[in-house]
This record gives sequence, structure tokens and C-alpha cells, in this order.
Amino acid sequence: MIRSTALPTVQVVVPLIQPARAPTHVLSPESQAILRMAAKYHPIWYIRAVMYLVGILHTEHHVSFAACDLVLRSVRFLFEHAADKSLLASPTPMSQTLTNVLSKLDLRDGFSVHPTCYSCHKIFSPDTGTDVYCEDCEEPLFDTVDDAAGEEDQPPVNPIPPLIPPPKVQTPKPILVCPIQLPSRALVDFFKIPGMFRAVNSWKTRVQVPGEMRCMQDGAVWDEMRGADGQRFFYGPSAEDEIRLGVTLSLDWFGRKSSSYGPTHSSGAMSLTIQNLPTALR
Ligand SMILES: [Zn+2]
Repeated sequence: MIRSTALPTVQVVVPLIQPARAPTHVLSPESQAILRMAAKYHPIWYIRAVMYLVGILHTEHHVSFAACDLVLRSVRFLFEHAADKSLLASPTPMSQTLTNVLSKLDLRDGFSVHPTCYSCHKIFSPDTGTDVYCEDCEEPLFDTVDDAAGEEDQPPVNPIPPLIPPPKVQTPKPILVCPIQLPSRALVDFFKIPGMFRAVNSWKTRVQVPGEMRCMQDGAVWDEMRGADGQRFFYGPSAEDEIRLGVTLSLDWFGRKSSSYGPTHSSGAMSLTIQNLPTALR
């Protein structure tokens, strides 16, 4: 037979844990600088986390613009209707499009977009005015905007604001554009990548096997090519004093104008490769 035994009553005092008032850790100057930079994207940390999320989904996993926009709008909807109405309490609005996120995070591709004459393909400066015509073809560079409605055609001003806001004024868009990235600009970004200065000189310590052609550096062009001073470009006396790059430009095109595979446009792929690099990095 098991008899129940009353437990003795114990009174204890549970101390209240007060939140620490003194800083529990110290941020290094580098960490403080990173936090200041991150706050520039958005002052609220969890909104920044959503921005990083869609940025990574798009750049690393190729999630489409439409899907990323859907994520942003859905999360914003949840924040707006959460019990805590202060989740979006910031003068900086939360981004609703991936385009806006990429702009804020400075995740640009480094290309400048130039208006181009669709008739002769002459390329114009990115800051060309929307009313400029190609002087050779007398063709417009931008879509015309229907601004024919004169003052007398404007509807009378209604003191009551419309339920549906009027469409925004559209700005003329170029009929044809050409994205350009100069190699000189691309090289600046290339050498910002840690380790690239060492990588472009790594071919100098590569072991060559006589009689075997395994790499660009085993060929005659790399060995014999001359620089502006008439000396061998990669092996001349001054080659040790500066970085010298050998590049190859490759272009492949699918239909010069159009084809059954691309009835409205043709596509091409162009690559500029630094041959100094080990094969895996080219
Ligand atoms: Zn033209």
C-alpha cells in the first residue's frame, strides 16, 4: 500500500531579473561602421533582414522580380496588420519592389544605359534629352508622350478628390537602349575583390611542362607578344614593375536580326576574360 505524503511547504523568494543597464559587450570600430552602413539601407533591422532575403533570393537563386515583389508586399501586409501597430513606425517606407531593394542595397550591375537610334544604331549619352532626335536619321530616340490635350480640353477642377487617383504622368522612355560597361570601369570593381592582385600574377609561378600545351601561358602569343616599348609584354624588363593583363573577348550571337527562335529580337553573349587568372577563376 502506498500512502501519499504531503510535501512540505517551501517558500522561496524568486529574485526579479532586471535587464542589464550597462553594455554587456563592446562593438569594435569596424562593427560600428558596419552597423552605421546597414542603418543607411533601412533604420529597422527586421526590414533590413527582409531586404537582404529578397536580394539573396534574386542574385543567388535567380528568383524572379515578380516573386520577390510578392514576398515584399506580403511581409509588408503582415507588418501592417500585426497586433503591434508600431512595426512599420519609421519615416523610411518599406520597399515593395525588388527594383527598389536593389537600388537601396547598391546591388547594381555596373552598366550605364545609353539611348540608341533604332535606325542607324548610333549610341547617345545617358543624359540625352527626351526631345533629341538622331541628327543623321532624323528619328526620335524616345517614345512620344501624348500631351496633345490643351488647356481647353482639361476637365474642370473638381473640389471632391476622385475615388480612383488619376494615372501618373509618364516620362518618355528610349525606343532602343544599349547597356555599356567599359573594361576600365570593370577593372576597378575587379581589383576590389580580395586576392585578385595576387591571382593575376599567379601564372608566373606555374610549372610549365616542355612540349605540353595546357594553358594560355604555354602558347606562343603569350610568350612573344610585344608591348608599346617593343619589349616582350609579359616577360620584358619592365613587366615585373606593373600588373600586365592579357584579355580575350568572346562573342556568340543567335541570329543577327531575328529567327524562328527569336522572332522579335536576337540575343548575344559577350565575355571579357582575364587570362592571367587560374582557369577556375576566369
Ligand atoms: Zn540614326
